[in-house]
Amino acid sequence: MFSRPRVVSFVGVVGTGAAAAYLFWPDKTRHAPTVDDASLSPSHFTRATLTESRQSGTNTKLLVLTVPGFEKSKQNASQMAPIWSVYIKDDDIQVERPYTPLEGIDEQGRMHFWIKKYPKGEVARWLHSKEVGDQVEFRGPLSTWAWKEDTWDEIVMISGGTGITPFCQLLHSSFSRGGDSKTRFTLLHSSPTPSELPPPEILGTLSAYAKAHPEKFALHLFVDSRDDDRPVDVPSLEVGRIQKPTIERCLGLKPYSPWRNLFVQAPQKAPRKTLFLVCGPEPMINAIAGPYGRNFSQGPIGGILGELGYTSNEVRKL
Ligand SMILES: Cc1cc2nc3c(=O)[nH]c(=O)nc-3n(C[C@H](O)[C@H](O)[C@H](O)COP(=O)(O)OP(=O)(O)OC[C@H]3O[C@@H](n4cnc5c(N)ncnc54)[C@H](O)[C@@H]3O)c2cc1C
Repeated sequence: MFSRPRVVSFVGVVGTGAAAAYLFWPDKTRHAPTVDDASLSPSHFTRATLTESRQSGTNTKLLVLTVPGFEKSKQNASQMAPIWSVYIKDDDIQVERPYTPLEGIDEQGRMHFWIKKYPKGEVARWLHSKEVGDQVEFRGPLSTWAWKEDTWDEIVMISGGTGITPFCQLLHSSFSRGGDSKTRFTLLHSSPTPSELPPPEILGTLSAYAKAHPEKFALHLFVDSRDDDRPVDVPSLEVGRIQKPTIERCLGLKPYSPWRNLFVQAPQKAPRKTLFLVCGPEPMINAIAGPYGRNFSQGPIGGILGELGYTSNEVRKL
């Protein structure tokens, strides 16, 4: 159906737009010009310099792209509302892919990325091969999902692998301003093994938010197995996939008991106005929220969240 397989799925409230953009990458890459100034726009490419590149696991790197001469005050602030991404262009084959700056863009024009390389994947492999000092072109910002203050009592984020990156941006945006939002955030993240978890630079920041604002942010980390022994400096790490009892327990919907499930049939939803954002490998999205519809539209809500009674107004598959 699609020209390219999709490993990590990110389609948001502007889902159709994002999905359509995803489908038409090569065309857009050919037609968008490169502009020789530091302004950012989805309709032209801007040159950045790779200023840091560090291995952060077997297949992942932390990269920093810096836009020389960038002036944040001249950028349209509303375009920088979380969650946004940029399309990075592989200059060798003129193909682009979207990536999410972990903390947006700072005053010095720096964007931090956590990027996973796939064995036969094009753009991430090309990006991993770049060296500090090399130039990389990107266009954006493009909205992945539009955060609106005071709309939700609770945002529950469920991610797998590099699917955590949009949530890092959303949390950074809230907690770098002092965490004064009325919304409470919960993040359930899973990776296959400890060494594939996000690196300390990411987990350290998230743990610090959770420690400083326990009433506003709860972090729950999971690994499928402890097959390797990377020491992970986080308050708690559970072994096992994110399943229905996990979600119920983490959200305090009811104390989990396998016996209770025998007698209680009706799903119990959180009483507060809750939005679930789900981002990760497609099998994970399917299990948590049900599969996408045609052309990566949201599709009906299924999976665990469907069983719990959540509807399409309360769940976004990013
Ligand atoms: C809004 C958005 C934000 C994103 N943010 C991030 C981010 O912050 N970090 C991140 O790491 N990713 C992110 N992604 C995912 C990213 O855009 C790419 O999809 C991902 O890096 C793979 O792209 P690629 O060009 O390397 O691989 P592709 O070439 O697209 O290949 C993807 C997969 O298909 C397999 N494949 C490729 N060719 C073949 C073939 N011929 N036969 C069989 N299998 C094949 C590859 O091995 C790989 O598993 C984001 C996606 C979206 C939509």
